[in-house]
Amino acid sequence: MSEPPFTIRIHTENNQDMDWMVRLEDVTFRQTLEVISSLLPHVTVTAFEYEDPEDGDHITVRSDEEMQDMFSAYFRELSEEDRTRGLFPPLIIYPKMGKTPQNRNIHGLKIKTGGGSQAVEPLPQGQQRQEVGGSIQTIMQCGNINEAQLHFLEPVGSGSGGRVYRALHRPSGRVMAVKVIQLDISPAVQKQIICELEILYKCNSRAIIAFYGAFFQENRISICTEFMDGGSLDRYMPIPETVLGGIAACIVEGLIYMWNLKIMHRDIKPSNVLLNTAGEVKLCDFGVSVQLVKSITTTFVGTNVYMAPERLQGKDYGKSAEIWSLGVTLFELASGILPFQSLTSELKLQPFQVMQCILEETPLVLPTEQFSPEFVKFISQCMHKDPETRLSINDMVNHEFLHRHTSDSSTVISLWVKRRLQEIQQQNRAPQS
Ligand code: ADP
Repeated sequence: MSEPPFTIRIHTENNQDMDWMVRLEDVTFRQTLEVISSLLPHVTVTAFEYEDPEDGDHITVRSDEEMQDMFSAYFRELSEEDRTRGLFPPLIIYPKMGKTPQNRNIHGLKIKTGGGSQAVEPLPQGQQRQEVGGSIQTIMQCGNINEAQLHFLEPVGSGSGGRVYRALHRPSGRVMAVKVIQLDISPAVQKQIICELEILYKCNSRAIIAFYGAFFQENRISICTEFMDGGSLDRYMPIPETVLGGIAACIVEGLIYMWNLKIMHRDIKPSNVLLNTAGEVKLCDFGVSVQLVKSITTTFVGTNVYMAPERLQGKDYGKSAEIWSLGVTLFELASGILPFQSLTSELKLQPFQVMQCILEETPLVLPTEQFSPEFVKFISQCMHKDPETRLSINDMVNHEFLHRHTSDSSTVISLWVKRRLQEIQQQNRAPQS
Protein backbone atom coordinates (compact mmCIF):
# COMPACT_ATOMS: atom_id res chain seq x y z
CA MET A 1 0.00 0.00 0.00
CA SER A 2 1.49 3.38 -0.97
CA GLU A 3 1.74 6.18 1.58
CA PRO A 4 -0.77 9.03 1.16
CA PRO A 5 0.40 12.54 0.25
CA PHE A 6 2.05 14.48 3.08
CA THR A 7 3.53 17.93 3.63
CA ILE A 8 7.17 18.97 3.67
CA ARG A 9 7.53 22.27 5.53
CA ILE A 10 10.56 24.22 4.34
CA HIS A 11 11.70 26.26 7.32
CA THR A 12 13.49 29.51 6.60
CA GLU A 13 15.61 31.71 8.85
CA ASN A 14 12.96 34.39 9.20
CA ASN A 15 10.11 31.99 9.88
CA GLN A 16 8.59 32.40 6.44
CA ASP A 17 7.97 28.72 6.07
CA MET A 18 6.51 27.17 2.97
CA ASP A 19 4.35 24.04 2.99
CA TRP A 20 4.83 21.77 0.03
CA MET A 21 2.67 18.72 -0.54
CA VAL A 22 4.38 15.66 -1.97
CA ARG A 23 3.92 11.99 -2.66
CA LEU A 24 6.63 9.69 -1.42
CA GLU A 25 7.02 7.94 -4.77
CA ASP A 26 7.29 11.20 -6.75
CA VAL A 27 9.57 13.46 -4.78
CA THR A 28 13.32 13.54 -5.43
CA PHE A 29 16.27 15.23 -3.76
CA ARG A 30 16.94 17.42 -6.82
CA GLN A 31 13.35 18.52 -7.00
CA THR A 32 13.45 19.46 -3.30
CA LEU A 33 16.52 21.62 -3.89
CA GLU A 34 14.72 23.29 -6.80
CA VAL A 35 11.77 24.15 -4.61
CA ILE A 36 14.11 25.46 -1.91
CA SER A 37 16.01 27.59 -4.40
CA SER A 38 12.77 29.06 -5.73
CA LEU A 39 11.94 29.97 -2.16
CA LEU A 40 15.42 31.32 -1.41
CA PRO A 41 16.60 32.58 -4.79
CA HIS A 42 19.57 34.52 -3.44
CA VAL A 43 21.39 31.74 -1.65
CA THR A 44 23.00 28.56 -2.82
CA VAL A 45 21.51 25.53 -1.14
CA THR A 46 23.05 22.13 -1.76
CA ALA A 47 21.68 20.28 1.24
CA PHE A 48 19.12 20.49 3.99
CA GLU A 49 18.63 19.09 7.47
CA TYR A 50 15.86 17.44 9.41
CA GLU A 51 15.42 16.69 13.06
CA ASP A 52 16.04 13.13 14.12
CA PRO A 53 12.68 12.15 15.66
CA GLU A 54 14.48 10.01 18.24
CA ASP A 55 17.06 12.39 19.73
CA GLY A 56 16.32 15.77 18.11
CA ASP A 57 19.78 15.97 16.46
CA HIS A 58 19.92 17.62 13.04
CA ILE A 59 20.77 15.20 10.25
CA THR A 60 21.99 16.44 6.87
CA VAL A 61 20.48 15.24 3.58
CA ARG A 62 22.66 15.46 0.46
CA SER A 63 21.29 12.73 -1.79
CA ASP A 64 18.23 10.70 -2.74
CA GLU A 65 19.46 7.90 -0.52
CA GLU A 66 19.72 10.13 2.55
CA MET A 67 16.34 11.57 1.71
CA GLN A 68 14.83 8.08 1.76
CA ASP A 69 16.33 7.61 5.26
CA MET A 70 14.61 10.83 6.30
CA PHE A 71 11.25 9.61 4.97
CA SER A 72 11.66 6.24 6.67
CA ALA A 73 12.35 7.98 10.00
CA TYR A 74 9.33 10.25 9.47
CA PHE A 75 6.89 7.45 8.70
CA ARG A 76 8.32 5.24 11.45
CA GLU A 77 7.57 7.91 14.04
CA LEU A 78 3.98 8.57 12.96
CA SER A 79 1.52 7.65 15.63
CA GLU A 80 -1.01 4.93 14.93
CA GLU A 81 -3.73 7.49 15.64
CA ASP A 82 -2.49 9.92 12.98
CA ARG A 83 -2.22 7.06 10.51
CA THR A 84 -5.75 5.84 11.17
CA ARG A 85 -7.09 9.34 10.80
CA GLY A 86 -5.05 9.76 7.61
CA LEU A 87 -3.60 13.02 8.91
CA PHE A 88 0.11 13.63 8.86
CA PRO A 89 1.99 16.43 10.62
CA PRO A 90 4.37 18.33 8.35
CA LEU A 91 7.91 17.00 7.95
CA ILE A 92 10.10 20.03 8.68
CA ILE A 93 13.32 20.52 6.73
CA TYR A 94 15.96 23.23 7.25
CA PRO A 95 17.84 24.40 4.15
CA LYS A 96 21.61 24.65 4.65
CA MET A 97 22.79 28.01 3.36
CA GLY A 98 25.92 27.99 1.24
CA LYS A 99 26.44 31.68 0.57
CA THR A 100 25.05 34.84 2.13
CA PRO A 101 23.64 37.16 -0.46
CA GLN A 102 24.99 40.67 -0.91
CA ASN A 103 21.66 42.31 -1.50
CA ARG A 104 19.20 40.30 0.39
CA ASN A 105 15.63 41.56 0.48
CA ILE A 106 14.80 41.29 4.14
CA HIS A 107 11.09 41.56 3.48
CA GLY A 108 11.12 38.82 0.89
CA LEU A 109 8.26 36.58 1.78
CA LYS A 110 8.10 33.56 -0.42
CA ILE A 111 4.56 32.70 -1.15
CA LYS A 112 3.48 30.04 -3.47
CA THR A 113 2.48 31.31 -6.86
CA GLY A 114 3.13 28.21 -8.92
CA GLY A 115 1.86 24.68 -8.49
CA GLY A 116 3.56 21.55 -7.21
CA SER A 117 7.28 21.61 -7.58
CA GLN A 118 7.32 24.58 -9.91
CA ALA A 119 9.48 27.52 -9.05
CA VAL A 120 8.00 30.33 -7.00
CA GLU A 121 7.71 33.19 -9.47
CA PRO A 122 9.81 36.19 -8.66
CA LEU A 123 7.95 39.48 -8.49
CA PRO A 124 9.02 42.24 -10.86
CA GLN A 125 11.98 44.40 -9.79
CA GLY A 126 11.31 46.75 -6.98
CA GLN A 127 8.21 44.94 -5.79
CA GLN A 128 8.04 43.47 -2.36
CA ARG A 129 6.22 40.38 -1.39
CA GLN A 130 3.77 40.45 1.47
CA GLU A 131 5.37 39.56 4.76
CA VAL A 132 3.77 36.60 6.47
CA GLY A 133 2.84 37.40 10.00
CA GLY A 134 3.23 41.13 9.33
CA SER A 135 0.96 43.39 11.30
CA ILE A 136 -2.44 44.34 9.98
CA GLN A 137 -1.07 47.83 9.63
CA THR A 138 1.51 46.50 7.19
CA ILE A 139 -1.13 44.70 5.21
CA MET A 140 -3.49 47.67 5.05
CA GLN A 141 -0.84 50.24 4.26
CA CYS A 142 1.73 48.50 2.14
CA GLY A 143 0.09 45.27 1.21
CA ASN A 144 0.85 44.11 -2.28
CA ILE A 145 -2.54 44.87 -3.70
CA ASN A 146 -4.92 47.76 -3.40
CA GLU A 147 -7.91 48.81 -5.45
CA ALA A 148 -6.08 51.53 -7.38
CA GLN A 149 -3.67 48.94 -8.79
CA LEU A 150 -6.45 46.79 -10.19
CA HIS A 151 -7.96 47.21 -13.62
CA PHE A 152 -11.27 45.33 -13.62
CA LEU A 153 -11.75 43.55 -16.94
CA GLU A 154 -15.12 41.75 -16.73
CA PRO A 155 -17.36 39.91 -14.26
CA VAL A 156 -16.91 36.14 -14.41
CA GLY A 157 -19.52 35.00 -11.95
CA SER A 158 -21.45 35.71 -8.83
CA GLY A 159 -22.22 33.63 -5.80
CA SER A 160 -23.28 33.84 -2.22
CA GLY A 161 -22.64 37.38 -1.23
CA GLY A 162 -20.25 38.51 -3.90
CA ARG A 163 -19.26 39.04 -7.46
CA VAL A 164 -16.10 37.72 -9.07
CA TYR A 165 -14.18 39.72 -11.68
CA ARG A 166 -11.25 39.02 -13.92
CA ALA A 167 -8.84 41.85 -13.25
CA LEU A 168 -5.36 42.96 -14.18
CA HIS A 169 -2.99 43.79 -11.36
CA ARG A 170 -1.07 46.55 -13.14
CA PRO A 171 2.22 46.56 -11.14
CA SER A 172 2.85 42.85 -11.69
CA GLY A 173 1.02 42.43 -15.01
CA ARG A 174 -0.75 39.44 -13.49
CA VAL A 175 -4.35 38.57 -14.32
CA MET A 176 -6.29 37.67 -11.18
CA ALA A 177 -9.75 36.73 -10.02
CA VAL A 178 -11.05 39.33 -7.59
CA LYS A 179 -14.04 38.48 -5.45
CA VAL A 180 -15.77 41.57 -4.09
CA ILE A 181 -18.16 41.21 -1.17
CA GLN A 182 -20.11 44.06 0.39
CA LEU A 183 -19.99 43.77 4.17
CA ASP A 184 -21.25 46.28 6.67
CA ILE A 185 -18.96 45.47 9.54
CA SER A 186 -16.83 47.40 12.01
CA PRO A 187 -13.11 48.11 11.39
CA ALA A 188 -12.29 45.69 14.21
CA VAL A 189 -14.10 42.87 12.44
CA GLN A 190 -12.44 43.87 9.15
CA LYS A 191 -9.05 43.56 10.84
CA GLN A 192 -9.93 40.18 12.22
CA ILE A 193 -10.93 38.92 8.76
CA ILE A 194 -7.70 40.13 7.14
CA CYS A 195 -5.78 38.50 9.95
CA GLU A 196 -7.58 35.18 9.54
CA LEU A 197 -7.06 35.16 5.77
CA GLU A 198 -3.29 35.42 6.27
CA ILE A 199 -2.94 31.68 6.62
CA LEU A 200 -3.73 31.38 2.90
CA TYR A 201 -0.32 32.89 2.13
CA LYS A 202 1.24 29.77 3.55
CA CYS A 203 -0.65 27.35 1.36
CA ASN A 204 1.29 25.75 -1.39
CA SER A 205 -0.48 22.95 -3.15
CA ARG A 206 -1.22 22.47 -6.81
CA ALA A 207 -4.75 21.54 -5.74
CA ILE A 208 -5.47 24.83 -3.92
CA ILE A 209 -6.10 28.16 -5.60
CA ALA A 210 -3.18 30.56 -5.02
CA PHE A 211 -3.98 33.52 -2.80
CA TYR A 212 -2.48 36.89 -3.75
CA GLY A 213 -3.99 39.18 -1.14
CA ALA A 214 -7.09 40.81 0.29
CA PHE A 215 -8.02 44.32 1.29
CA PHE A 216 -10.94 46.34 2.53
CA GLN A 217 -12.02 49.50 0.81
CA GLU A 218 -14.99 51.25 2.37
CA ASN A 219 -17.54 48.56 3.14
CA ARG A 220 -16.31 45.88 0.74
CA ILE A 221 -13.62 43.28 0.85
CA SER A 222 -11.74 42.25 -2.28
CA ILE A 223 -10.08 38.85 -2.26
CA CYS A 224 -7.50 38.34 -5.00
CA THR A 225 -6.65 34.84 -6.20
CA GLU A 226 -5.27 32.97 -9.14
CA PHE A 227 -7.56 33.22 -12.18
CA MET A 228 -8.76 29.91 -13.62
CA ASP A 229 -9.81 30.20 -17.26
CA GLY A 230 -12.12 27.17 -17.14
CA GLY A 231 -14.25 28.60 -14.32
CA SER A 232 -16.06 26.33 -11.89
CA LEU A 233 -17.24 22.76 -12.37
CA ASP A 234 -20.97 23.50 -12.13
CA ARG A 235 -21.03 24.71 -15.74
CA TYR A 236 -19.80 21.37 -17.10
CA MET A 237 -22.30 18.91 -15.57
CA PRO A 238 -22.63 16.04 -16.32
CA ILE A 239 -18.94 15.12 -16.49
CA PRO A 240 -17.86 11.69 -17.82
CA GLU A 241 -16.32 9.38 -15.23
CA THR A 242 -13.04 9.13 -17.16
CA VAL A 243 -12.51 12.86 -16.59
CA LEU A 244 -14.26 13.11 -13.23
CA GLY A 245 -11.95 10.46 -11.73
CA GLY A 246 -8.91 12.71 -12.20
CA ILE A 247 -10.87 15.70 -10.93
CA ALA A 248 -11.93 13.76 -7.81
CA ALA A 249 -8.30 12.81 -7.13
CA CYS A 250 -7.31 16.51 -7.25
CA ILE A 251 -10.17 17.51 -4.93
CA VAL A 252 -9.12 14.85 -2.43
CA GLU A 253 -5.48 15.99 -2.67
CA GLY A 254 -6.53 19.58 -1.93
CA LEU A 255 -8.72 18.57 1.00
CA ILE A 256 -6.05 16.39 2.59
CA TYR A 257 -3.54 19.21 2.22
CA MET A 258 -5.79 21.67 4.03
CA TRP A 259 -6.86 19.15 6.66
CA ASN A 260 -3.20 18.55 7.42
CA LEU A 261 -2.96 22.28 8.12
CA LYS A 262 -6.03 21.88 10.35
CA ILE A 263 -8.25 23.86 8.01
CA MET A 264 -11.70 22.61 7.02
CA HIS A 265 -13.24 23.70 3.76
CA ARG A 266 -16.84 24.02 5.09
CA ASP A 267 -18.37 24.70 1.68
CA ILE A 268 -17.49 21.91 -0.74
CA LYS A 269 -19.69 22.13 -3.85
CA PRO A 270 -19.24 22.17 -7.64
CA SER A 271 -18.92 25.96 -7.84
CA ASN A 272 -16.00 25.89 -5.41
CA VAL A 273 -13.89 23.65 -7.62
CA LEU A 274 -12.16 25.52 -10.44
CA LEU A 275 -10.27 24.29 -13.44
CA ASN A 276 -8.18 25.70 -16.26
CA THR A 277 -7.24 24.81 -19.82
CA ALA A 278 -3.88 23.47 -18.59
CA GLY A 279 -5.93 20.71 -16.95
CA GLU A 280 -5.35 21.86 -13.37
CA VAL A 281 -8.12 21.46 -10.81
CA LYS A 282 -8.11 23.57 -7.65
CA LEU A 283 -10.28 24.14 -4.62
CA CYS A 284 -11.29 27.67 -3.70
CA ASP A 285 -13.32 29.44 -1.02
CA PHE A 286 -11.95 27.71 2.07
CA GLY A 287 -13.71 28.79 5.23
CA VAL A 288 -10.40 29.90 6.79
CA SER A 289 -11.89 33.06 8.15
CA VAL A 290 -14.54 32.18 10.69
CA GLN A 291 -15.41 35.85 10.92
CA LEU A 292 -15.82 36.22 7.15
CA VAL A 293 -18.07 33.15 6.98
CA LYS A 294 -20.09 34.56 9.89
CA SER A 295 -20.37 38.02 8.33
CA ILE A 296 -21.50 36.59 4.98
CA THR A 297 -24.04 34.19 6.45
CA THR A 298 -25.64 36.87 8.62
CA THR A 299 -26.10 38.98 5.50
CA PHE A 300 -26.94 36.29 2.94
CA VAL A 301 -28.74 32.98 3.33
CA GLY A 302 -26.45 30.27 2.00
CA THR A 303 -27.77 27.21 0.21
CA ASN A 304 -27.01 24.03 2.07
CA VAL A 305 -27.83 21.10 -0.21
CA TYR A 306 -24.27 19.81 0.19
CA MET A 307 -24.28 19.90 3.98
CA ALA A 308 -24.02 16.69 6.00
CA PRO A 309 -27.01 15.61 8.13
CA GLU A 310 -25.12 16.03 11.42
CA ARG A 311 -24.23 19.62 10.48
CA LEU A 312 -27.82 20.45 9.53
CA GLN A 313 -28.93 19.09 12.90
CA GLY A 314 -26.52 21.43 14.68
CA LYS A 315 -24.42 18.56 16.05
CA ASP A 316 -20.64 18.60 16.26
CA TYR A 317 -19.18 17.90 12.88
CA GLY A 318 -15.74 17.27 11.51
CA LYS A 319 -13.92 16.13 8.43
CA SER A 320 -16.41 13.35 7.80
CA ALA A 321 -18.97 16.09 7.09
CA GLU A 322 -16.64 17.24 4.31
CA ILE A 323 -16.56 13.68 2.95
CA TRP A 324 -20.37 13.73 2.79
CA SER A 325 -20.26 17.03 0.82
CA LEU A 326 -17.66 15.49 -1.50
CA GLY A 327 -20.03 12.58 -2.18
CA VAL A 328 -22.97 14.86 -2.97
CA THR A 329 -20.74 17.03 -5.18
CA LEU A 330 -19.36 14.08 -7.16
CA PHE A 331 -22.83 12.57 -7.53
CA GLU A 332 -24.14 15.81 -8.98
CA LEU A 333 -21.13 16.31 -11.23
CA ALA A 334 -21.47 12.78 -12.62
CA SER A 335 -25.23 12.76 -13.13
CA GLY A 336 -26.27 16.40 -13.32
CA ILE A 337 -28.83 15.90 -10.53
CA LEU A 338 -28.73 15.97 -6.74
CA PRO A 339 -28.84 12.63 -4.91
CA PHE A 340 -32.19 13.31 -3.21
CA GLN A 341 -35.28 12.14 -5.04
CA SER A 342 -37.66 14.89 -4.04
CA LEU A 343 -35.17 17.73 -4.16
CA THR A 344 -36.30 19.56 -7.28
CA SER A 345 -34.62 22.74 -8.49
CA GLU A 346 -37.45 24.86 -7.03
CA LEU A 347 -37.09 23.25 -3.60
CA LYS A 348 -33.30 23.67 -3.72
CA LEU A 349 -33.71 27.24 -2.51
CA GLN A 350 -36.02 26.50 0.39
CA PRO A 351 -33.88 25.69 3.43
CA PHE A 352 -36.55 23.77 5.36
CA GLN A 353 -37.41 21.45 2.46
CA VAL A 354 -33.73 20.89 1.73
CA MET A 355 -33.16 19.89 5.32
CA GLN A 356 -36.13 17.53 5.32
CA CYS A 357 -34.94 15.76 2.14
CA ILE A 358 -31.38 15.33 3.42
CA LEU A 359 -32.44 14.11 6.86
CA GLU A 360 -35.24 11.81 5.79
CA GLU A 361 -34.32 10.39 2.40
CA THR A 362 -31.82 7.68 1.62
CA PRO A 363 -29.43 9.21 -0.92
CA LEU A 364 -29.77 7.94 -4.49
CA VAL A 365 -27.21 5.54 -5.93
CA LEU A 366 -25.61 6.16 -9.33
CA PRO A 367 -26.78 3.71 -12.04
CA THR A 368 -24.30 0.84 -12.40
CA GLU A 369 -24.98 0.61 -16.16
CA GLN A 370 -23.39 4.02 -16.64
CA PHE A 371 -20.67 4.13 -14.00
CA SER A 372 -17.99 1.76 -12.74
CA PRO A 373 -18.80 -0.25 -9.59
CA GLU A 374 -15.84 1.40 -7.77
CA PHE A 375 -17.13 4.90 -8.47
CA VAL A 376 -20.71 4.01 -7.47
CA LYS A 377 -19.39 2.48 -4.25
CA PHE A 378 -17.10 5.43 -3.46
CA ILE A 379 -19.94 7.93 -3.71
CA SER A 380 -22.39 5.79 -1.73
CA GLN A 381 -19.82 5.30 1.03
CA CYS A 382 -19.27 9.07 1.22
CA MET A 383 -23.02 9.56 1.69
CA HIS A 384 -23.61 7.27 4.67
CA LYS A 385 -25.90 9.22 6.95
CA ASP A 386 -24.10 8.03 10.06
CA PRO A 387 -20.66 9.69 10.16
CA GLU A 388 -19.36 6.67 12.09
CA THR A 389 -19.89 4.34 9.14
CA ARG A 390 -19.07 6.90 6.44
CA LEU A 391 -15.86 6.49 4.43
CA SER A 392 -12.91 7.42 6.67
CA ILE A 393 -10.09 9.66 5.44
CA ASN A 394 -7.73 6.72 5.27
CA ASP A 395 -10.18 4.52 3.37
CA MET A 396 -10.91 7.40 1.03
CA VAL A 397 -7.25 7.98 0.17
CA ASN A 398 -6.73 4.26 -0.41
CA HIS A 399 -10.02 3.65 -2.20
CA GLU A 400 -9.84 1.54 -5.34
CA PHE A 401 -11.68 4.26 -7.26
CA LEU A 402 -8.98 6.84 -6.51
CA HIS A 403 -6.25 4.31 -7.18
CA ARG A 404 -7.48 4.07 -10.75
CA HIS A 405 -7.26 7.85 -11.17
CA THR A 406 -4.24 9.85 -10.11
CA SER A 407 -4.32 13.58 -9.52
CA ASP A 408 -1.96 13.75 -12.50
CA SER A 409 -4.63 13.54 -15.16
CA SER A 410 -3.97 17.03 -16.46
CA THR A 411 -3.65 16.01 -20.11
CA VAL A 412 -7.03 14.26 -20.15
CA ILE A 413 -8.67 17.14 -18.27
CA SER A 414 -7.01 19.80 -20.42
CA LEU A 415 -8.20 18.25 -23.70
CA TRP A 416 -11.68 17.76 -22.33
CA VAL A 417 -12.06 21.26 -20.86
CA LYS A 418 -10.85 22.92 -24.07
CA ARG A 419 -13.38 20.94 -26.11
CA ARG A 420 -16.20 21.68 -23.69
CA LEU A 421 -15.39 25.41 -23.62
CA GLN A 422 -15.57 25.47 -27.42
CA GLU A 423 -18.93 23.70 -27.34
CA ILE A 424 -20.27 26.12 -24.72
CA GLN A 425 -19.09 29.06 -26.82
CA GLN A 426 -20.77 27.64 -29.94
CA GLN A 427 -24.01 27.07 -28.04
CA ASN A 428 -23.93 30.66 -26.79
CA ARG A 429 -23.36 31.94 -30.33
CA ALA A 430 -26.10 29.82 -31.94
CA PRO A 431 -29.28 31.82 -32.70
CA GLN A 432 -32.09 31.00 -30.25
CA SER A 433 -34.99 29.31 -32.05
P1 ADP B 1 -20.10 30.62 -4.69
O1 ADP B 1 -20.56 31.60 -3.68
O2 ADP B 1 -21.21 29.92 -5.41
O3 ADP B 1 -19.06 29.69 -4.16
P2 ADP B 1 -18.22 32.47 -5.87
O4 ADP B 1 -18.73 33.81 -5.53
O5 ADP B 1 -17.03 32.00 -5.10
O6 ADP B 1 -19.38 31.40 -5.85
O7 ADP B 1 -17.85 32.44 -7.40
C1 ADP B 1 -18.83 32.65 -8.37
C2 ADP B 1 -18.34 32.18 -9.71
O8 ADP B 1 -17.20 32.95 -10.11
C3 ADP B 1 -17.86 30.75 -9.72
O9 ADP B 1 -18.91 29.88 -9.93
C4 ADP B 1 -16.86 30.74 -10.86
O10 ADP B 1 -17.53 30.54 -12.07
C5 ADP B 1 -16.30 32.16 -10.84
N1 ADP B 1 -14.99 32.16 -10.16
C6 ADP B 1 -14.77 32.23 -8.82
N2 ADP B 1 -13.45 32.24 -8.54
C7 ADP B 1 -12.81 32.18 -9.73
C8 ADP B 1 -11.42 32.12 -10.13
N3 ADP B 1 -10.44 32.13 -9.24
N4 ADP B 1 -11.15 32.03 -11.45
C9 ADP B 1 -12.14 32.00 -12.37
N5 ADP B 1 -13.46 32.04 -12.07
C10 ADP B 1 -13.79 32.12 -10.77
